[in-house]
Amino acid sequence: MYKDIGLFINGEWIYPDSNTPCIDVINPSTHERLARLACADVRHLDDALQAARLAFAQWRFSSAEARSNVLYNVYRIILSEAESIAALMTLDQGKPLAEALAEVRFCAEHAKWHAEECKRLYGRLVPARNPKVRQSVVKRPVGVCCAFTPWNFPFNQAIRKMCAAVGAGCTLILKGPEEAPSAVAALADIFQRAGLPAGCLNLVWGNPEQISSYLIDSPVVAKVSFTGSIAVGKKLAALAGAKMKRVSMELGGHAAVIVCASSNIDKVCTLLVDAKFRNAGQICISPSRFFIHESIIDEFVTCLLEKTRKVRVGDGMDPQTKMGPMCNERQITRLQAIIEDSLAAGANLLAGGSRVDGPGNFFQPTVLTNVPLDARMMQEEPFGPVIPINPFSDLATVIAVANSLPYGLAAYGFSEDRNECATLAEGLEAGMISLNHYGLGMPETPFGGIKESGYGSEGGAETYDNYLSTVFISELTQS
Ligand code: NAD
Repeated sequence: MYKDIGLFINGEWIYPDSNTPCIDVINPSTHERLARLACADVRHLDDALQAARLAFAQWRFSSAEARSNVLYNVYRIILSEAESIAALMTLDQGKPLAEALAEVRFCAEHAKWHAEECKRLYGRLVPARNPKVRQSVVKRPVGVCCAFTPWNFPFNQAIRKMCAAVGAGCTLILKGPEEAPSAVAALADIFQRAGLPAGCLNLVWGNPEQISSYLIDSPVVAKVSFTGSIAVGKKLAALAGAKMKRVSMELGGHAAVIVCASSNIDKVCTLLVDAKFRNAGQICISPSRFFIHESIIDEFVTCLLEKTRKVRVGDGMDPQTKMGPMCNERQITRLQAIIEDSLAAGANLLAGGSRVDGPGNFFQPTVLTNVPLDARMMQEEPFGPVIPINPFSDLATVIAVANSLPYGLAAYGFSEDRNECATLAEGLEAGMISLNHYGLGMPETPFGGIKESGYGSEGGAETYDNYLSTVFISELTQS
């Protein structure tokens, strides 16, 4: 059952009451109110800062084994409670229950990966010029961190930051997504039961701008991590830059998909329809600009349309549903405007194009062809269930078109020709490139962008880099 959700500060839950302002959490499938969410004011933020500061004084000296044990416990608890976490996530975020369950189960692996890697945060000895000197390089936790995570993958985005901060020996204040808070609240509870001391992880909700500017400005905070839109990311990076604070940013993208003539059309269409309509297209690495070789484009479009028409849209709690609602009304308004702009610019609408009548934020799976490259659809991240398709004839030219935007998060290529695959891998400007399958986001592989899509990787061997400072110690051991 969906219940009121509180702030979590210094190991205590603070639920909505007459002293704590709150907002409603709404089910995007039905527009019904699910519960109340407590919102933080300055007093709560000060308490969270104080708790995180005091906890850091202890947690920074915890053993790697102790931190690893907490993260392993987190992994085990998540797996045993995955069904109930997923059901609540479907209610507030909207994604189909099977997708929510897959997100929770898969993301338990982030805790396991961080549990393993935190035992390998090695320093090194550097041979000194003077034999009486010992030179060591050590890694230290950066300090109190603040993080801001979005509503599209509430569990995934939050657990990555929580595990990396806690595993490195940092403490964290995380502002979760007000629109889909249940999965993040579940995580805070799980970390506590896994043995994480009070104050190491604090959770707040409320006015995003007020919270982020207050926390980033605080001298207590040493590092800022954000996942969300490029526009907000730039604001937060500027605030952090004014105080020279460490920053990692996982921002939006507009992933190009290049399908070469040698591709297996049916296989590629199955994969792309599945990837595109997952989470109603609200995925930062969603395939979103489709360039198909002119020799196969007619066959590709026919095949893709056939598969798109079978995507069943509905309430995520219905097991027949393939695609749930958009998480909030803003996404529908934005998407509708982007589609209308494309049509005005001369694009052809082959499927969908508008919201589904009735309650809920449902949008039709949409396919457009011949979308001018200067239309908003080809310039801005659509973040919705829409496939814009354009033909290409020359691989080098289409790679240049793919690279022409300021984004650089993910890119996809399909070809049965090894030389073409090598050209795609070498030429595409993106932090993550997937060829002939959809293979991004594993715990053991780095996740992050280049260009305006951000900096700093989450996951992979790089995952702790953002949460550690490098300190060089030179010691004269004999006089
Ligand atoms: P938004 O940029 O206002 O919000 C995105 C997330 O950032 C939300 O969770 C929000 O609470 C948070 N946020 C907003 N302003 C903030 C601030 N000043 N300080 C701290 N956190 C803040 O936009 P939106 O309407 O929710 O989504 C719009 C677009 O953002 C989407 O269409 C998409 O392009 C992008 N987005 C990207 C991701 C991602 O995974 N990279 C996730 C969500 C949204």
